[in-house]
Amino acid sequence: METHIREGIKFVPSYPAAVAMQLKRLQWAGARFLFISSLTIGITTVVGLYLFSPLFSYWFLGTFRFWKFARMAPRFIVYAYAGAYHFLKKDFSPSIPFTAPPMRSPDLSLVQINPEWRYGESCTDCGMCCRKIKCPLQEEETARCMAYDSFFWRYFNCGRYPSSQAEIDRYECPKWLIRPRSK
Ligand code: SF4
Ligand code: SF4
Repeated sequence: METHIREGIKFVPSYPAAVAMQLKRLQWAGARFLFISSLTIGITTVVGLYLFSPLFSYWFLGTFRFWKFARMAPRFIVYAYAGAYHFLKKDFSPSIPFTAPPMRSPDLSLVQINPEWRYGESCTDCGMCCRKIKCPLQEEETARCMAYDSFFWRYFNCGRYPSSQAEIDRYECPKWLIRPRSK
């Protein structure tokens, strides 16, 4: 009995830790809200896409120097409208809760690297998932992601891909497998 009580106490987060976690969640939600609001204003007014271009450059490419990517603007604007359409249709899978933590890798309690994948943790030059959605942030020549580790990459679907078999199948990913569930 005493052991159970001790174990129970061990898993209750302290009050400061719980408050810190709530503040973190608020921060993540606020960052997503700001991003989606700015994108919505940009898409609905068009001129907002240009006015906020330093912010978009930072969110997508990790730099405020938006002029470096001016050549990408037409593709990017088309992608922004297509993305808004799919967001409203709830086509993105999975949809990410506003309060979810940003991630730089998938949840390894859910997925594992396919033993037949020969490149370890690297995706090498696969780029299949990005090609499937015709992402304008994928370099055409090298298949490299220009948004790697950016705000957009960490806070939305890319950094945490994949989390389900449906996602693996949808993008025909050869690298990841769902972990067998222990019985
Ligand atoms: S990983 Fe990069 S290139 Fe691929 S879909 Fe995400 S942002 Fe686009
Ligand atoms: S499909 Fe899989 S292996 Fe290919 S780039 Fe995407 S995550 Fe990497």
